[in-house]
Amino acid sequence: MVEDFIMFVGAAVLAPFLLLKLATAFAPFEDEENVTDVLLVIAHPDDEAMFFAPTLAHYASKSKVEIRVLCLSTGNGDGMGETRRTELLRSCFGAFGIRARNVTIIDDPLLLDGQSQKWSPVQICKHLEKVMNRAFSCRPSGHLRIITFDSGGVSGHPNHIDTFDAVTSHICPFACITSMKIDCFALRTVGLAFKYFGPASALLHWFCFSSISSMRILTPDIGICSRAMSAHASQLLWYRRIFTRMASYAYFNELQSVVRVPGAHRQNNEGAGARCARNVLSTSSLLVFYFAVKTGWISIAAHGVFLAILSGACW
Ligand SMILES: [Zn+2]
Repeated sequence: MVEDFIMFVGAAVLAPFLLLKLATAFAPFEDEENVTDVLLVIAHPDDEAMFFAPTLAHYASKSKVEIRVLCLSTGNGDGMGETRRTELLRSCFGAFGIRARNVTIIDDPLLLDGQSQKWSPVQICKHLEKVMNRAFSCRPSGHLRIITFDSGGVSGHPNHIDTFDAVTSHICPFACITSMKIDCFALRTVGLAFKYFGPASALLHWFCFSSISSMRILTPDIGICSRAMSAHASQLLWYRRIFTRMASYAYFNELQSVVRVPGAHRQNNEGAGARCARNVLSTSSLLVFYFAVKTGWISIAAHGVFLAILSGACW
């Protein structure tokens, strides 16, 4: 009886949020139709395939959008920089139709691939400005969307986090380079609870745990990540093969708008504390569900699912 009452009240609270989610799930993102250029900034060859495949596939399907990729290293951590450079070009063209002239791969001794390497934001911005000068300085109009990692670095790699810090800080004076409209978006790092359940985790994240104010891209091309990664033969170890099928990034990207302000930068929608709380909440909800099913407590399992959806929808 008490459980029925809790479910009834909960459903009443939840309903408006779910309706809002449904209403916005398929709506085109604000300004999306005006985007003429996309610049993806990544740290290593294969980042574009492992993490950003749904985003690249989405923009590659729009004939009026020109995509450029800036890769800040050759991925030479294990001495295979030249091979990885070629693989990146193959992946970009083979999977997304991005021509080699639109792919810039930096080989800079100050930006070496590695978990222990600290990348200077000033050095990153130097290369970013060069690319922007070459590609966009003569453009009188248009809308450029810069896309990169978020503050969690997607996989937590320090090179990814340094890339986010540099691209989203105020030290790169984009507005001085071109008169195009420019916005920045960061790929949201997915919590561990939803990272490796394949299309199911992508769907759950898309519907329940993504923010309605972010750009949500659920690709219909479920093989795109595998196809792009197949060009990276030198990196295609068994666990990366599993990743291309099981990671939610292979099917879904949530991009959050980033505000660049002098002296600081922040993501629009949530900070590290909120993200941490959300992950703890979603993980604990899943655990409740798992143990309840294991012990046969269906009623508690139902409440676990309810809690998971409610926490995600209300955030
Ligand atoms: Zn990487």
